[in-house]
Amino acid sequence: MLAQRLDGIPPTIFSEMSALAVRTQSVNLGQGFPDVDGPPAVIARAVQALEGGQNQYAPGPGVPALRQAIARHQLRHYGLELDPDSQVVVTTGCTEGVAAALLGLVNPGDEVVVLEPYYDSYTAMIQMAGGVRHPVTLRAPSFRLDADELRAAVTPRTRFVLLNSPHNPTGTVLTAEELRAVADVALEHDLVVITDEVYEHLVYDGHAHVPLATLPGMFERTLTLSSAGKSYSFTGWKVGWATGPAELVGAVLAAKQWLTFTSGSPLQPAVAHALDDEPDFPSALAADLRARRDLLCAGLAEVGLDVRVPEGTYFATTDISGLGWEDGPAFCLALPERAGVVAIPTRGFYDSDAGRHLVRWAFCKEPAVIEEGIARLARADLAR
Ligand code: GLN
Repeated sequence: MLAQRLDGIPPTIFSEMSALAVRTQSVNLGQGFPDVDGPPAVIARAVQALEGGQNQYAPGPGVPALRQAIARHQLRHYGLELDPDSQVVVTTGCTEGVAAALLGLVNPGDEVVVLEPYYDSYTAMIQMAGGVRHPVTLRAPSFRLDADELRAAVTPRTRFVLLNSPHNPTGTVLTAEELRAVADVALEHDLVVITDEVYEHLVYDGHAHVPLATLPGMFERTLTLSSAGKSYSFTGWKVGWATGPAELVGAVLAAKQWLTFTSGSPLQPAVAHALDDEPDFPSALAADLRARRDLLCAGLAEVGLDVRVPEGTYFATTDISGLGWEDGPAFCLALPERAGVVAIPTRGFYDSDAGRHLVRWAFCKEPAVIEEGIARLARADLAR
């Protein structure tokens, strides 16, 4: 029954693996969502909005208070000056931002260069928009961006780069040099870059997130996407935003109005409150996550997995070939029964075979949960 635009697009692995975790009562180190909510004052602000009559449609681009708070956030952190009325639009999570950006900008046949491994919604939405993806692989074990491979991916039909840094699933935070390479290619070939920066605040060990839009000549051709989900531990609120030049933000809104029309009204003032009045929450969260990253990575190494310590995000990636496995999906399907743990095979995020032996683990969980997951792995027979 499925329309051709969904041909070959499998159900999202995240829902599949979370359902498997519930069914098998496994420790869920798969889907990236925290098990502790964000700031209580932000929740209180949402309750106030719910009880205070803010329950009808928000304006299409989002409530003004939130758009203004997003503009202040971009200025405070990155020195980016935005007009909240024409250069900011609120979306239903960054996932809708990606969808609306691609539907609003990509013409059938346009090529989109995308970092591989890619987040699953990118390829689904490139296809639904009629675009053609052109992956540039971040290769294990270091998962760096190779500027030559990036250049080689550009053809006369390329119109967009879909970037993601900090990068899910690898945890790579693009360096100044790598960003420079993206900017050079975009400037040289007149490309627009759509950049998903939802993990912007979740970077570790002094690695800095630099928005591509801050590079010389790039603001005009960059659409930046982010959300409150990761920065404030409200992944289920689905409040995201797109910022950038008015033509690009306008294209997002042009598509968004036919997708969700507007996004949830009562959560928007609460997120405005988060951005304005809880500015230190994300960095405190990052400090916390760094310790949990180290806990998880040490545990994974101890059970014999070759682990890449990430510079950012919620996730660490392991190579399972040391345990005799070659196939990540097979390993992850066996894992609940063998160990009572769920993780995400990243093979599905590749066109190539480069991710066959890679598995992603989330550390955005309480330390006790991570410890229980590791203890279960340690007790289990994980060898192929
Ligand atoms: N971003 C989350 C992850 O990578 C999942 C979000 C989703 O399931 N769509 O795990």
